[in-house]
Amino acid sequence: MAKYGLLVFPERCTGCNACNIACASHNQLGVDVSYNRLEFLETGTYPNVKMEILPVQCQHCDNAPCVSVCPTQATYKREDGIVAIDADKCIGCKYCMAACPYEARQLNEKRVPEKCRWCPEMLEKGEQPACSATCMNEVRLFGDLEDPNSQLNKELAKHEVYQLLEVKGTKPSIFYVKK
Ligand code: SF4
Ligand code: SF4
Repeated sequence: MAKYGLLVFPERCTGCNACNIACASHNQLGVDVSYNRLEFLETGTYPNVKMEILPVQCQHCDNAPCVSVCPTQATYKREDGIVAIDADKCIGCKYCMAACPYEARQLNEKRVPEKCRWCPEMLEKGEQPACSATCMNEVRLFGDLEDPNSQLNKELAKHEVYQLLEVKGTKPSIFYVKK
């Protein structure tokens, strides 16, 4: 069984927003909804300042607070590592939204707190999630963390990486390459 993960190369990101548009199109999101935001971070002190663009989405946490707080098990962790939502079980309490330290969830038009799904219907066809498939700058390397020969694991071995809000103990499935 695969265990999916993502390696993000923030330095390659130009902020073109193609990933976000592909995600919105694939998931038929409303104009105010985004599962895939870009954070623009200014680092350094004037005049030596730099802008870093950080793509942020659901981290598909291994120790996901949204899963543990959900009273109906509408939010659950799949064996392949994807944190998924069963909309039929969701009662709209929004506990998962409050528990997520990454602000990854947004209410859809049915008042279900949705988020990145890693496009499982594309994975079943052997394709990449819409965001990874679209990014021309290869910012988002998606793959199988359980496969020692996956490109993902080869690149993880080459780079120093970090995870967002590691102190929270959420154990994200997304890694970011350090500058
Ligand atoms: S990033 Fe937020 S919504 Fe995604 S699995 Fe982690 S806690 Fe849940
Ligand atoms: S809003 Fe839905 S998915 Fe979120 S915790 Fe409540 S029942 Fe679970």
